[in-house]
Amino acid sequence: MDTPRDISRRHFIEGGFVGAAGLMAAGLLSSCASNQEAPAQQEAGDKATTQLATADETVESNILIVGSGASGLMAAYEAGKAGAKDILVIANCPSIEANNGNMVSGTAAVETPYTEAIGQDYTSKQLFDRMIEFAHWTVNARLLKTCVDLLPGNIDIFDELGIELSLGADRYSIGFEEVHLFGTKNKSAIFQKFLEDTYGVQFRFSTEAQHALMENDTCVGVQATDADGKVIDFKANATLLACGGYIANPDMLKEVYGDMTIVASSTEWQKGLGVTIAQEAGAFRESTHGLGMNDIFGSTEELGFNLGEPLLGIAFYGGLIVDEHGKRFMNEYMLANASMAGGGEATLHVKQYYAILSQRVVDALKEQGYYQVIGSPEFWVSGQLLYSQPMPDLDTNLQNAIDLGWVYKGDSIADVAAQAGLDELEATVEAYDQMAAAGEDTMFGKRAEMLVPVADGGPYYLFKYNPGAFNTFGGCRTDEFTRALRADFSVIDGLYIAGVENGSLYSRPYYDVGGTCSGLSYSSGRLAGMHMAEYVK
Ligand SMILES: Cc1cc2nc3c(=O)[nH]c(=O)nc-3n(C[C@H](O)[C@H](O)[C@H](O)COP(=O)(O)OP(=O)(O)OC[C@H]3O[C@@H](n4cnc5c(N)ncnc54)[C@H](O)[C@@H]3O)c2cc1C
Repeated sequence: MDTPRDISRRHFIEGGFVGAAGLMAAGLLSSCASNQEAPAQQEAGDKATTQLATADETVESNILIVGSGASGLMAAYEAGKAGAKDILVIANCPSIEANNGNMVSGTAAVETPYTEAIGQDYTSKQLFDRMIEFAHWTVNARLLKTCVDLLPGNIDIFDELGIELSLGADRYSIGFEEVHLFGTKNKSAIFQKFLEDTYGVQFRFSTEAQHALMENDTCVGVQATDADGKVIDFKANATLLACGGYIANPDMLKEVYGDMTIVASSTEWQKGLGVTIAQEAGAFRESTHGLGMNDIFGSTEELGFNLGEPLLGIAFYGGLIVDEHGKRFMNEYMLANASMAGGGEATLHVKQYYAILSQRVVDALKEQGYYQVIGSPEFWVSGQLLYSQPMPDLDTNLQNAIDLGWVYKGDSIADVAAQAGLDELEATVEAYDQMAAAGEDTMFGKRAEMLVPVADGGPYYLFKYNPGAFNTFGGCRTDEFTRALRADFSVIDGLYIAGVENGSLYSRPYYDVGGTCSGLSYSSGRLAGMHMAEYVK
């Protein structure tokens, strides 16, 4: 009889084994056959055809994977493992190291050798239940379920490749440990070599897909340009878009978030072309679009992508935070503890946000980290992990920040408020300090331990932040096997979408389970790889 561990390892889903053979046995891959009843090519698809340039070269492959990040590599792995030949990966980044997938520090999974080693019995079923409830069923539940069930297998693959992992702490205080931290640097290079050596997968970098190639409503590849501007038609029997979304495209961000600055804490290659190519092919763009917020440090437009400036951590200390008017707008502990999910989301609903500290706290930071300054509260796991280091260079850092214009210093609260134009700040601090004195946040219910009073005679420092994000979530709709869907839910033959630009997998806000950014990318890439291998047979 199967133990829960066996079942998890074999990835049963509603009686079906998730793996090409299992999907076939369960009749789920019968849908791999070409979609005979596809409607006439849509306007968007026609438009794509008219935009195409004359190609300088045509390159043919069996399976084409656009993107060498988290989902693209996993797709190549599963397609190769399933016996598919002639797999080509193209990517616009110059090398395998230079993409977001390589920067992942930890990935989610339960029911792994690592979680079992600590005796944790939290199951994939429980994880799915939690995530679908968090998402309020705004995603494709069958797709999410399969991807959650595939999470332990992602870890097995890294183990197979000799990529080191260890289990991280329950940083988001969700009650179980799920983030598997990578010990191996440059894991993507190991992955690439494995794919080349084992499955003969070919890689072409500095090659950017621009448009879909369509024939009779079927996607037959992409048109791309290389670093020399050469136009290349990449033709294939199945094409996967795994381009990582649009965090590096300010115009696309504005379409979703309006006129605010979102600092891209990522590489420059995620320009949204995967989304627009899918749209050109006729895929329907889903309305749910989220952000994988930078949960290590806050961000400010003056510094851009910067994970090394400790002052950026002040945004996540759980102290008073105000909007561009000086008004409080959130329970700041959300940002301190759930900076990727609910806390980060709250900062997307104001134009700008600010934190304020007095000189007394700043002085204490030089000797101790903020975690110790507020008494080392045990419940704040991320505080202990991230904000417990002293800041010996604080004075220099502060002066640099003031010179750059993202920190204001003043003798009084009225002074810093005037410098930043925050009309309501004085009144907000007064009301906040009264709540701190009473030990109860009657406005947003923040934990009493995080209610540190602000006004103590000064001087004061006001820190200006913008939301920062590692990646976007969302794009075009797919079915439960990652196949692109038109608005009428018909399948676009030959076209798959995986990773963070799959429009049917991620919620807004981002799930409150750490490491699901990459975890679901790996899983959806694998699912696409399995399905493509069957489709091209
Ligand atoms: C600094 C940093 C740290 C992170 N840490 C974590 C973490 O610890 N845990 C976690 O879960 N997530 C983390 N993430 C998020 C994680 O990187 C993403 O969730 C994951 O990489 C998404 O996988 P993907 O395959 O969708 O896209 P990516 O991994 O971004 O891959 C996209 C690929 O597509 C290529 N591409 C894009 N457009 C084109 C085009 N038009 N033509 C050809 N190629 C194209 C890119 O070059 C790249 O190779 C982090 C991200 C960053 C930036």
